[in-house]
Amino acid sequence: MWRASVLTILPDIFPGPLSASLAGKALAANTWSLDVVDIRKFTTDKHRTVDDTPAGGGPGMVMKADVLARAIDAAATDARPRLLLSPRGAPLTQARVEALAQQPGVVLACGRFEGVDERVIAGRGLEEVSIGDYVLSGGELAAMVLIDACVRLLPGVMGDEASRTEESFTEGLLEYPHYTRPQVWEGRAIPEVLLSGDHAKIAAWRRAEAERLTRERRGDLWSAFLARFRGSRAG
Ligand code: SAM
Repeated sequence: MWRASVLTILPDIFPGPLSASLAGKALAANTWSLDVVDIRKFTTDKHRTVDDTPAGGGPGMVMKADVLARAIDAAATDARPRLLLSPRGAPLTQARVEALAQQPGVVLACGRFEGVDERVIAGRGLEEVSIGDYVLSGGELAAMVLIDACVRLLPGVMGDEASRTEESFTEGLLEYPHYTRPQVWEGRAIPEVLLSGDHAKIAAWRRAEAERLTRERRGDLWSAFLARFRGSRAG
């Protein structure tokens, strides 16, 4: 069973959206499990303090290394990757999600305030992971995003395995457009080729559309795709 342990000062917000739909059904079916660890339980003072003022001054508060380290030591007793959700981290990609879904699970530390004392990141070997170039108020939503992306890839969670191999990013391209009935809606018709029943033509159209959308919307992905394509032809 794939196991997610989440370290947070807001344990009550879990499982939240992870209890619905695919992830929720898979949780109920024991395809994966969720341990939510309340970081505050690892405080030693009567005020249950998890943060303190920043060394050197400046705004906000910093999560204390000793408290977070005790929480990690209690939760991460196995070899699962230990990640800290952080806007400074390596951007989360579908390739990374696929790799994490192959692991026995993940240990996720959620930051709050201005962030986490740098020493616990080094001392407990936390790998920083970002879900995008914007700042959230805490790591909890980012942890949910990461878990959701991993759980849907676990064996048996998605009904149609083909949808997984065709979706955005799997081949380094964005996905082609989708249509369903009615055939004409507000004067807009489903492209003729999709109604042709010619599977080779449909596949070629979808591929061309995936390439067009990637080229138009994501120059970064398109350049990487072309470099891989040229590399594979040269090799
Ligand atoms: N002062 C930090 C900075 O400028 O990089 C931002 C801290 S943020 C208010 C508090 C916490 O939210 C972070 O420690 C991290 O755990 C989480 N967080 C915020 N943005 C994130 C992102 N894009 N990806 C992952 N986690 C994020």
